Amino acid sequence: MRIEKKFNVISLIIIAVFAAADVAFYFLAHHLFEGTTALILCLAGCLAIAIIALIFLKKYVTENIVLPLKNIHSGSSAIITAINEGNFNNRIDIKTEDEFEDLADNFNKMSSVLQTREAALKDVSEKEQHVIRALAMLTEMMGFITSELKFESILQTFLEMTRSLLKAEHSGIFIFEGEAKELKLFKTTIKGENAPSLDCAKTMLTGPLGEAIKTSSVLRINEVTAEFPPNHPVVKSFIALPLSSSNNKMSALLITINKSGGFTPDDEDTFFNFAFQAFQSLVLHEEIARLAVTDGLTGLYNHRAFQEKLSEETNRAERYFKTFSLIMLDIDHFKSFNDTYGHQTGDLALKEISKIIRNELRTVDFPARYGGEEFILILPETSVDGALIVAERIRRAVAEYQFMSEGGERLLLTVSAGVACYPDDATLKEDLIKKADQALYFAKDRGRNTVCTYQETIAGIIKEIPEEIDAILKDPGLRDIEKIAHGIDAKSHYTKGHSIEVAAYAVMLGKQMRLEQPLMESLRIAGILHDLGNIGIPEYILNKPGNLTPEEKAIIQGHPGLAEMVLIKYHLIEDILPAILYHHERFDGKGYPLGLKGGEIPVLARVLSIAEAYQAMISPRPHRRRKTREEAIAELRKEAGSQFAPDIVNAFIESLQGKKGGHEQ
Ligand code: GH3
Ligand code: MG
Ligand code: MG
Repeated sequence: MRIEKKFNVISLIIIAVFAAADVAFYFLAHHLFEGTTALILCLAGCLAIAIIALIFLKKYVTENIVLPLKNIHSGSSAIITAINEGNFNNRIDIKTEDEFEDLADNFNKMSSVLQTREAALKDVSEKEQHVIRALAMLTEMMGFITSELKFESILQTFLEMTRSLLKAEHSGIFIFEGEAKELKLFKTTIKGENAPSLDCAKTMLTGPLGEAIKTSSVLRINEVTAEFPPNHPVVKSFIALPLSSSNNKMSALLITINKSGGFTPDDEDTFFNFAFQAFQSLVLHEEIARLAVTDGLTGLYNHRAFQEKLSEETNRAERYFKTFSLIMLDIDHFKSFNDTYGHQTGDLALKEISKIIRNELRTVDFPARYGGEEFILILPETSVDGALIVAERIRRAVAEYQFMSEGGERLLLTVSAGVACYPDDATLKEDLIKKADQALYFAKDRGRNTVCTYQETIAGIIKEIPEEIDAILKDPGLRDIEKIAHGIDAKSHYTKGHSIEVAAYAVMLGKQMRLEQPLMESLRIAGILHDLGNIGIPEYILNKPGNLTPEEKAIIQGHPGLAEMVLIKYHLIEDILPAILYHHERFDGKGYPLGLKGGEIPVLARVLSIAEAYQAMISPRPHRRRKTREEAIAELRKEAGSQFAPDIVNAFIESLQGKKGGHEQ
């Protein structure tokens, strides 16, 4: 009953009881007593009734007003305390069916409204937290992308981030290339031997994941019931998100698997927002990285990329005792092709030859444009025989190809190729390039449109060594070694007597330095044979009066290596070969073939270089007069510390002066 009504009823009852009691007292008092006594008794009775009525009224007010009010007060206080503590479930429990119950209900409703609002706010805040985390990760990812060059390592970080963002067990990515969406790469955060293979990835794509790619739709599944093969990760829940680059060159399927409690729609949103942005940057990075290593005209790798790859391949081959080959290709008579048909037709031919090269290679091979019309190919795990077959295939394919001039005329082009192999021909990368180049040179020398290996170059040179030289070198005592000198000097006509004289100066210097007898003998032989490699160098280069081209210089600089390759089979004393191989090294490290410095250069090579330089200075050359002894000494002094070892220069000058200027006379 409502409070007002209750009050009306109770008031009426009290008034009625009070009036009835008063009337009853009045008649009872006047019936039993008289006068003043009756009046006093009547008043006393009325007072007693009034007191009783007041007691009833107080009891009523206490039960119906004070207690519910107290209840509401303590209930609302409890609600406030609970809300402060984050608990919105407290309610006031009153069943008075009056305004107090209404008031308590209002408090309860306010608490419910607050509870709903709080849940909504929490939801929004959680979403914001997700977005903030995703943004933070995206920023971190961008930072990583700009500081890291390797695509696979960026990809790995990307996967770790998606995994951590969604608090999932693992994540993985399938990378597809081209419009045909061919699976190129599969990476996951699963490490070690449990990491699923590319084959395993292919199996995965046969199921719903394959469908997700085809239909470009996101899949979020929380109760996976499928059985998995032994090497397949057990998937209980996952989100799969197809991604595609804006240029359509690369697409991917990103998956994140297994989260306790499953993945929510919010997870799906977060996953999408982060992954989409990150993937676009990843693709952009890859594109920029690709352009940085690609030759603009031919689309092959550029020179820098080749150098890096060669370093990698050399290190790998050294570490795992592997072999690999280099093929150096050069278009024949390309200058006159350009001159005749124009540069544009030339450019087109370069592109077409690049295409032919690519078609003939495996995906693991590495084709690069080395220079203008030169190509260089790295063939991992390929012996010289394998490389020869590939080079021959390319040579034939180019020779059979019909190039077109701007006027529609059919044109032919040929290429020559040189092959060198790690570790048989060289173990240092610069050296290997030089040897492939030397083989290429030999192929050109043979008439072009042909392939030649470095070993054939050596074989060719050895073949050029006359039988009598061969016989002399085969003699363990090398008794007639001086007879070889003439053959070597004959190669370049203006160095007649050069080898013998160099040997004599070297021996003279060796004596001054008090070298031991076995070393002196090695020095003498090395002096005679130091230019044996010239036998393998075309005479027109050796005797060219003008400046040498860079290629010609490289060929000339190959002569110590050639000598070593020729002499290695004759089992000479072990000091002789290093003395010959390094006699063009410089004290400051700027020499060849290796750029050895100071004490790294074998002592006999340091001695030989001074003896050879001095002999050359005091000999006449077609383009300059001979230097006097003093001029030559001054020159040696000038170069001491840069070209020559200073202590040996001093010893040499002393020995010259000790002979009182006699030797060269
Ligand atoms: P060889 O058979 O001895 O190699 O003769 P070659 O004429 O090919 O040799 P050379 O090295 O003298 O000439 C190379 C020519 O290649 C010079 C230049 O006209 C041409 N060339 C180099 N780079 C490019 C290029 O990017 N485009 C075009 N069209 N021609 C180039
Ligand atoms: Mg060339
Ligand atoms: Mg050429």
